[in-house]
Amino acid sequence: MSTEKIPFLDLVTVHRELQDELVEVLKTALKSAGFIGGPMVQGFEEDFAGFCESRLCVGLGSGTDALRFALIAAGVKSGNIVITVPNTFIATTEAISQAGARPDFVDIDPTTYAMDSGKLREYLEHTCRWDPKTRQVTHNATGKLVTAIVPVHLYGQMADMDPILDLATQYNLKVVEDACQAQGAEYFSQKDNRWHKAGSMGHAAAFSFYPGKNLGACGEAGAMTTNDEQLAHTCRLLRDHGQSKKYFHDIEGYNGRLDAIQAGFLRVKLHHLTKWNEQRRQAAERYDKLFAGAEGLVTIPHQPSWARSVYHLYVVQVEDRARLQQQLNDVGIGTAIHYPIALHLTKAYEELGFRIGDFPIAEKSVAHILSLPMFPGLTADQQERVVTEVLKSLSVTSSELT
Ligand SMILES: *Cc1c(COP(=O)(O)O)cnc(C)c1O
Repeated sequence: MSTEKIPFLDLVTVHRELQDELVEVLKTALKSAGFIGGPMVQGFEEDFAGFCESRLCVGLGSGTDALRFALIAAGVKSGNIVITVPNTFIATTEAISQAGARPDFVDIDPTTYAMDSGKLREYLEHTCRWDPKTRQVTHNATGKLVTAIVPVHLYGQMADMDPILDLATQYNLKVVEDACQAQGAEYFSQKDNRWHKAGSMGHAAAFSFYPGKNLGACGEAGAMTTNDEQLAHTCRLLRDHGQSKKYFHDIEGYNGRLDAIQAGFLRVKLHHLTKWNEQRRQAAERYDKLFAGAEGLVTIPHQPSWARSVYHLYVVQVEDRARLQQQLNDVGIGTAIHYPIALHLTKAYEELGFRIGDFPIAEKSVAHILSLPMFPGLTADQQERVVTEVLKSLSVTSSELT
């Protein structure tokens, strides 16, 4: 078997293949010197809204901008609480804090790694009180208003949106999907008996086009999607210093615009996204098959019948993660951990006062997860080698144990 290195993520090959098209974008931008806003940004916004089956898209500087602006535009105010999950990238909770709110958490479903709607219900029923007159939810311990939920479609798989949206309706809460890892993922809604694209179900959604995402820019970029014209309008103001017209500022905003060149690159790459996602799905299926028979040693991703994941990451769980990661590294196989610390236990959130044991499902998964190589263009040979090395490492471990 080959001993060639297998990277965790190969971004070079795909850009080599697209080089001519991407250089054309750059030339077009240089010709007009229209680097901010303009037709390339608008064109991408229309294309991406179409891709997400969402009415509107606002191009932004990053996924973090998208989360922050969507929350502010959805009406989250200073001193509110916004509920999310502890096992996400810190941008999710940074955006909540930067919108002026306090992040609070509910635990995850152990099989999907996404928000457990039963836990969300418990949170709303048992730690909050509902005032039917004002139609507001107050968190008992802090007296703060709970105003929004941010379900995270982690690793490319949808959170179970039907019950989350039902609770949001019942408790008058806004839902902002963190779809940063889920461009193109789909959810089957029992309620209307059809598939929905990630980013089209909540009041708004945030996407990141950080280079390593399923759809990545050649630099920083992001977008929000929504079906609500008012919400999109507010995000357009927020991204551009609150300007409705040059130097006429309706509100104070931010500098959170999408570069025209990045929008142009993204437009080119969007044409390939469906094919790339399909390649990721095929790679995931291949991993699943190769790991069949190793159930006791490796927990592979679970895809519920209501989800079509786009496998931003292929995450397995093993007993001795540190040892497996080291041994794969020793034979030239790249891996990563998404993410090594649950946010409620991260130093930055010490003052929120959470403890070990507060979110046991998330904490347990955090200790065992490992992301294996996953990208379009990953070959069957490479995958076979990854799985062979994983099983070699694990069977040694398990025979040593017995
Ligand atoms: C990447 C990511 C973000 C942030 O996106 P940026 O473009 O890096 O700001 C937010 N949430 C999740 C789950 C992400 O994976």
